[in-house]
Amino acid sequence: MRSNPADYEMIAPGSLYAIVSLLAKEPGVWVPIAGGTDVMVQYAAGKLPARKLVSIWNLPELRRIEVTAEEIRIGAGCTYTDIRRHEIVGSEFPLLRSAARWTGGVANQNRGTIGGNIVNASPAADSLPALLVYDSELILVSIRGERRLPYASFHTGYKKTLLATDELLQAVCLPRRFSGYFSHARKVGARNAQAISKVCIAALGHLGDGVVEDVRIALGSVAPVPLRLTETEKIVRGKAIDSELLHLARNAVADKIQSIDDIRSTARYRAAVAGNLVAEFLNRLNSEQPGPERGEVKDVLARWNRSSVDEAMQAILPCCASKAWAQGMVARRPLADESALVAASNETWHSLTQSDWMQAFQSHPRIGERSSLEPQSQTARSVEWSAQEQENVGHAEAAVKIALADANQEYERRFNRIFIVCATGKSVPEILEILRRRLKNDAETELHEAGEQQRQITELRLRKWLQG
Ligand SMILES: Cc1cc2nc3c(=O)[nH]c(=O)nc-3n(C[C@H](O)[C@H](O)[C@H](O)COP(=O)(O)OP(=O)(O)OC[C@H]3O[C@@H](n4cnc5c(N)ncnc54)[C@H](O)[C@@H]3O)c2cc1C
Repeated sequence: MRSNPADYEMIAPGSLYAIVSLLAKEPGVWVPIAGGTDVMVQYAAGKLPARKLVSIWNLPELRRIEVTAEEIRIGAGCTYTDIRRHEIVGSEFPLLRSAARWTGGVANQNRGTIGGNIVNASPAADSLPALLVYDSELILVSIRGERRLPYASFHTGYKKTLLATDELLQAVCLPRRFSGYFSHARKVGARNAQAISKVCIAALGHLGDGVVEDVRIALGSVAPVPLRLTETEKIVRGKAIDSELLHLARNAVADKIQSIDDIRSTARYRAAVAGNLVAEFLNRLNSEQPGPERGEVKDVLARWNRSSVDEAMQAILPCCASKAWAQGMVARRPLADESALVAASNETWHSLTQSDWMQAFQSHPRIGERSSLEPQSQTARSVEWSAQEQENVGHAEAAVKIALADANQEYERRFNRIFIVCATGKSVPEILEILRRRLKNDAETELHEAGEQQRQITELRLRKWLQG
């Protein structure tokens, strides 16, 4: 049922003191509204229970970012655009900057606030996994004074928080001690994609002497609250990253997610996606630390930015064999750095047609085989990368290889194309399990899954390509 504006009252007292006084006088009666991007969606759907709204939008006390030697304190009323543009956030808290970049479109980023994202308490909210891994703390304010608590304790259940009815969230504080960490953030499944559930990861780590010295991993959308994977972190710390560790980490993630009761129906699928995201992070941590010299990355990209259209096409096609994708990438030059390159690739990939996607899919060899169905689309580089991606297939037992070949055939009969999976870091039994699960998909869901896998393959190849 539509909401009737006459049933609602909204006031804007204009100062923090006036607002907390009002909340204290009638606790639970007045509901704060900041950017309104969540509240107004509820209102439009006729699902806003509150009738009295108090505006906290653009309140100076909530709209500043303060930096001290120890921490950065982001006012709850800061928008995603404020956060994206802040230099220290960009250089020291890239996971939060990525979350701000991903949250809706530009209009939403100009209006939506970090405080609204935290208090709205959706398990799918993009900024929350980043706040978990950065050990952030919240400052809550009321007429009784301020209190400070770890963000990790704030969300107590689905859409439940420790905020009292007379309190406002004033700021979120992030300690400045993670800038030396390798960081990795990914969001799987666009908000408007109907076929793929969204899971997001925010992770930090660093290696020392070939082993993981520290690692911090959080996921969104896999539980009623954003989830820090402390057991997985314990398993990984102090070890070298190899296929055995990836296997242990995936199992630890799957155990954690499958033990969450209220999302049981999708737990298996989410556990598989979450395990892949954690493995992808660990693979990247392994290959980027101590990392390619930033200078080398710059050189490869600078040369590519300067080269002719034809040369640029030839250079980038091994990363993804769709000509339309390569043309789209070349048209976006110059690209400033690795993250601009990956972002351009993701956007270009999602703008393509189904037949462009098919061209990319066909360039891969079948899982378990060496050459693709379309030999002319294979360059020496893509052959080499395919072999690396499938390196675990050689070690598989004969029975598993036969089962894989059978499942490949069944897949091709059913969907009329080869099975695409980002095989890097996955064992053959894992690939087989994924293949069997995806055989149950309807055509549209499967197309989106294959497209997402190709996107991941392309991203990993782009990063390899940058290393020269
Ligand atoms: C088109 C669209 C796309 C979106 N895309 C994404 C996305 O990709 N990722 C994502 O995470 N979210 C997304 N959102 C959700 C939304 O934009 C964010 O959650 C945003 O951060 C909410 O902030 P706001 O200021 O608009 O909150 P509001 O709607 O004003 O408030 C949300 C809730 O928080 C409370 N609140 C707000 N500020 C405070 C405070 N300081 N103290 C106490 N309570 C407070 C309000 O009372 C309300 O309950 C999207 C929304 C839309 C409409």
